[in-house]
Parts: sequence; structure tokens; C-alpha cells
Amino acid sequence: PHDETWKTLHTHIDEWVAVSKTHTLEGHVASYIPELANASGDILGICLMDSEGQTILSGDSNFRFTLQSISKVFSLILALMDNGEDVVFSKVGMEPTGDDFNSMLKLELIEPGIPFNPLINAGAIAISSLIAGQSPDEQIERILHFFRDIANNPSLSVNQNVFKSESDTAHRNRSLAYFLKDNGVLDQEVDDVLRVYFSHCSIEVDCTDLARMALVLAHNGVDPIRKQRLIPRRFVQIAKTFMFTCGMYNASGEFALNVGLPAKSGVSGSILTMVPGQYGIGIVGPALNRKGNSTAGVHLLGILSQEFDWSMF
Ligand code: GLN
Repeated sequence: PHDETWKTLHTHIDEWVAVSKTHTLEGHVASYIPELANASGDILGICLMDSEGQTILSGDSNFRFTLQSISKVFSLILALMDNGEDVVFSKVGMEPTGDDFNSMLKLELIEPGIPFNPLINAGAIAISSLIAGQSPDEQIERILHFFRDIANNPSLSVNQNVFKSESDTAHRNRSLAYFLKDNGVLDQEVDDVLRVYFSHCSIEVDCTDLARMALVLAHNGVDPIRKQRLIPRRFVQIAKTFMFTCGMYNASGEFALNVGLPAKSGVSGSILTMVPGQYGIGIVGPALNRKGNSTAGVHLLGILSQEFDWSMF
């Protein structure tokens, strides 16, 4: 038996997706990773999943894409599970930056030369080096294993074309990593850390995978469908707090005002968000605004949040 919200969603989701889809025209597909530029700009898809695993799908929900920055949330959680809070926060800070996700501007400012937070590229690269394992291959295997468990999808894997495309063109990420290495933030070699980082960014999913991953966060680390705890509650709390303050890059404040939910976006045009205690939500719309977030996806979440009063405040 479903609540009013679910019924209203069923009735109206196609119409809300259609309206939001017109906003894809305002955006541009990311091209700094050449392989991502192949995605078509007029795509918009969504999956909402309730705590019994029932889904509402609309638009281009079968489109497959790579996690990109969304992966940073789950690599952070795995690094916390591997090392605990003290070690993790000796390598990254807790503050939003207000700068672009790949900015080099503020790396010197936080003492002692550590990245501001784990969701900007510099922070996520530092986090990649904290994943336990004897070799980059083993680290990547552990990440895949963890992500497959959260998504309850054993077939998740790295899209090698996107991995290679990103790896071949990652001059800025390479600079960030060398800078971190020089500051003593990375124990591993730069090339090894970047291989781990690009691999988790290149894991391929669809909206249903995202919704399932979000559902586990919405239920504070318990998969409500398998009724199994996958993540300690404190680490989900840390992850969701960063999503709220830094998850939409330097548009996190605007998103907090207009939508008011913890969310994480990726340059593939993906957004993972949730209604705490209730639904997991996965969205993809590759056309991005200037801040690197899906134009249509943000618009769609604005409609949903207003309609159902989903803001946490
Ligand atoms: N892999 C991408 C990068 O490092 C992730 C960035 C993003 O999604 N914003 O540039």
C-alpha cells in the first residue's frame, strides 16, 4: 500500500520530466573528458526507489553513464571504514570551497596543506590513496566490491573507454596530485593514486543503480530491502553532511535553498540524492550548467522538492 506521495509521483512524473527536459537546451555536455562528449545532450532520466525496492522510472532511465564525482561519496565512506575518522581528517578538511571542483586556488590555505574537503578533486584524490590494498589493482578491486554491494549489483564495472579517455587527458588532476604529493598528503606514487581515482570515477551505472545506492544512505547505512547494515551510521552521517555542504560543487548553497536535500553530482550529468528515511533517487541529464551540474536534473529536483515539501528545513 503506497502513500499519497508515491501515487502523485506515478501520475505526474512523466509530465515533470518533460517540462524539465526543455532545460537541457541551456546546458552543455562535458567535453574535457573526450569520451563524455559522446553523450547526447537532450537526455533526462530518473529512478525513484522506495524502501521495499519498488521503483518509479521516467524518461531516459535506461541510459548508462559513469559515476564520476558521485563515486567520491562512496570512496570516502570506504576510506573511513578502512582507516577511521582521525586518519581521514588528517588528509582532508571539512570545509566547502566556493571554487570549481578541480580548482587549484586554495590548496595552500588549509593547514597543513591538505585539500578543503573530500568531494573536490584534490580531496578525492587524497581519499583514493587511503583505500586499503597491497597494490592499485587490489584497491580498485576492493572499491568495486564495495560499490557492487551498496548497489546490490554484482555486474558493476569500470568503463575502460572512459577510464582511458580521462587518464590520457587529466593534466589538471595530475597537477593536483603532484601538488598533494609535494605537500606530503599522498603516501602512494602519483600514477598509482590516479589509477585508483580514475577507476572509481569510471564505474558505469544506470539510474536504478544510483537510486539503490542512495537508498542505503537514506536509511543511514542499512539496505532496507535486504535488511542488512552495510555502512556504520556515523560514516553515512559524515557522507551526507558533505553532500549537503559540498555535493553540488560551488552551487551547493543554491541547491540547498532550492531543493534542500543531500545530493552529489558528477560531470556525466548524474545526480544521486535521497529523501531521508524514505526514497533513493538517481537522475541523469548530461547537459551541464556552468557549475558542472545537470541543468535538467537540478530543475526536476526543484519541482519535486517544492511539490512534496522535501527540503530538510
Ligand atoms: N573524474 C572527474 C574528474 O576528476 C570527476 C569530476 C566531476 O564529476 N566533477 O575531473
